[in-house]
Amino acid sequence: MSRSTRTLLLIGLFGFLGLFALGAGTVVVLGTRTDIFESVTGSSGSDSKSLDEGATRQSTSGDEESTASEMSRSDDDSSGDNGSSGTNRERQDETAAVACEPDTIGEEDGPVVAIYEVEDGMLGDLCFGEASDEVLQSWDLLDEFTDPEQLLPIKLFAGIESNTVFAFAGPASVDTYDEFIIAVDVFSADDLQELRLTMAHELSHVFTQEPEQFDETLRRSSCDAYYNGYVCFLPDSYIAAWVDAFWTQEMLDDLPKSGSIDEEGGEDRCTLDRAFLGSYAASHPEEDFAEAFSAFVYGLEVPDEAEPRLQFFEAYPELVAYRDRAIAAGQTGLPNTLGQCG
Ligand SMILES: [Zn+2]
Repeated sequence: MSRSTRTLLLIGLFGFLGLFALGAGTVVVLGTRTDIFESVTGSSGSDSKSLDEGATRQSTSGDEESTASEMSRSDDDSSGDNGSSGTNRERQDETAAVACEPDTIGEEDGPVVAIYEVEDGMLGDLCFGEASDEVLQSWDLLDEFTDPEQLLPIKLFAGIESNTVFAFAGPASVDTYDEFIIAVDVFSADDLQELRLTMAHELSHVFTQEPEQFDETLRRSSCDAYYNGYVCFLPDSYIAAWVDAFWTQEMLDDLPKSGSIDEEGGEDRCTLDRAFLGSYAASHPEEDFAEAFSAFVYGLEVPDEAEPRLQFFEAYPELVAYRDRAIAAGQTGLPNTLGQCG
């Protein structure tokens, strides 16, 4: 299976939702809280069918955007009850801030079948639904190139049943900036190579959207670095550095001011420029980063023009560590299914 479409959606207040679709109609969603980020959608490659779904969902802005708004929860949630793995009370209290319920994820793309708690970067107990081998397998692939410390922001890991959504990550609650959820489509979890790329892609959305990366109080006019339609990335953030390196002002000016993924523009840029790793990557700077990061981690062969994108990550030892772990796991040189530009 080749991955040909993906969408990312960014959602308003303190959040983004990214979703991306794979060749067979699978989509990956990544989300955060409402209010900072709005929606971004996009697609790449020849196939944009599942994109539309993402677009619809993303085109709504702000509060009524289901996933993000529904992520809000009350502090008395009991999800901490079964989340413990012998950790202290404080930890359990933190966990209790995240709602282990389908509404946290949203079910636009299919029913949620399993939610596991994540504690201290390690998969914990099932807290909703039925145990899922596919979810466990997906976690294993995430675990393969990370260590628990790198997974600390993730508080929930879930499975959904969807023909369109391949995985999903986003805010675990509207109350904080630093807690995330990732979900995967259990129907799409059998292509392990693709799943590896997907997990790396989604994880990159998490670590580029952590609170220290942006200032949500700055608007476009006062943002000295990259403003994505919802938040101002700080000059020393990964995304701002990425935009500096690879996105010209002209390209940025062509992006929808709404922050949406620029599907058509992505295809145009991809046609013209072999440096992009597929038209989905060319649809939005953050998708560009995510695709390239997955290529970097798993040693995909890329055109010479795209090599600087992979080299970018060499400047960050903490990001190189992901690749090193993938290599140590024997997972490098995976097939490049991201699509070819130029
Ligand atoms: Zn994405």
